[in-house]
Amino acid sequence: MSIVTTEQGFLARAGLDRLIDALRARDYAVIGPRVRDGAIVYGSIGAAADLPTGVRDAQSPGRYALEPSPLARQFAWANGPQALKPLVFRPRERLWASWRTPTGELHFGAAAEAIEPTAVIGVRACDLAALELQDRHFLREPFPDPAYRARRDALFLVAVHCTHPADTCFCASTGDGPEAESGFDLALHEIDDGFIVAAGSDVGAAVLAGLDLPAADQARMDAARAGVAAAAAAQSRALPSQDLRATLLERLESPHWDAVAERCLSCGNCTAVCPTCFCHAEFDEPASDGIVSEHYRQWDSCFTAGHSYLHGIVIRAETRARYRQWLTHKLAHWHDQYGRSGCVGCGRCISWCPVGIDLTAEVVALAGEGKA
Ligand code: SF4
Ligand code: SF4
Repeated sequence: MSIVTTEQGFLARAGLDRLIDALRARDYAVIGPRVRDGAIVYGSIGAAADLPTGVRDAQSPGRYALEPSPLARQFAWANGPQALKPLVFRPRERLWASWRTPTGELHFGAAAEAIEPTAVIGVRACDLAALELQDRHFLREPFPDPAYRARRDALFLVAVHCTHPADTCFCASTGDGPEAESGFDLALHEIDDGFIVAAGSDVGAAVLAGLDLPAADQARMDAARAGVAAAAAAQSRALPSQDLRATLLERLESPHWDAVAERCLSCGNCTAVCPTCFCHAEFDEPASDGIVSEHYRQWDSCFTAGHSYLHGIVIRAETRARYRQWLTHKLAHWHDQYGRSGCVGCGRCISWCPVGIDLTAEVVALAGEGKA
């Protein structure tokens, strides 16, 4: 998706409903961040009042909490547990079914999901980068995933550049944030009195033109730039800048993997919240009538025993091997498969790990070792 316009309009905060109405007028279902069950997750947005105003997150290893904020902004928080992933790669979906007719013939049919055009407001730069990575996996020729393709094509993405990173964020060190540079239809800089809006696609440019906004003045543009620069500077975590592919593959027998395994519960929380993890299992569910059988795809995790079950043997029977598989796949082998690291620095796996294992700290510890 190329940037098709450099025009940047100013949308006053009180006018945010105009953008939501414009998206609905184009028949998009509009979803965006909402407070639910103590976290900010995507939900249906009917009006700007549904967005999480006056709330901020507090995140640290193994901790996520919401608390009141004195700021009257709608996007002054960092990502919650949910990324774009479930919108395109469903946690569980029926891929196909087979059934027997009364005359005994066997039929197979693909599952046909009704896809609703959906506009997502509030997408962060790290999640756009993660979506682009998921595209590389699911849309890879010669067998692009048709269900993923259909859901991906139905998305209209409204990015909001990040100004309030969590303590666990490190997107600046992976090069994936805090400013969204591509992959969006519209992008918003949130400043004190509203939003600077720019388009990143033809359809985004059409929506922007329909809003008929005044041009953003220099003072507001400066404030927007200062906001994302401060967000980058505020990040205290980072991945080391050295060649992590080579470093990790040199340390496959490091004793540090045992140290991590003593704490890791193999619960799979990290892979569930990770916006780039795509491992899944497939299985059949035959109906008890013996006539229909359905074939499902469901998120799986490299931390489960079943994920490495091959011909009667669990290849990665110990947590040590599973954590090593996760980290070395994410930060080393992804370079071979997809041309870059599989980590976009969103920090979710740190906040949502029940024992607070911090991927950046583990990598720093491994990288600091001599060759094992
Ligand atoms: S590995 Fe952790 S920090 Fe990196 S993209 Fe996945 S959840 Fe985010
Ligand atoms: S690293 Fe944390 S979240 Fe991931 S499997 Fe281990 S205990 Fe669970």
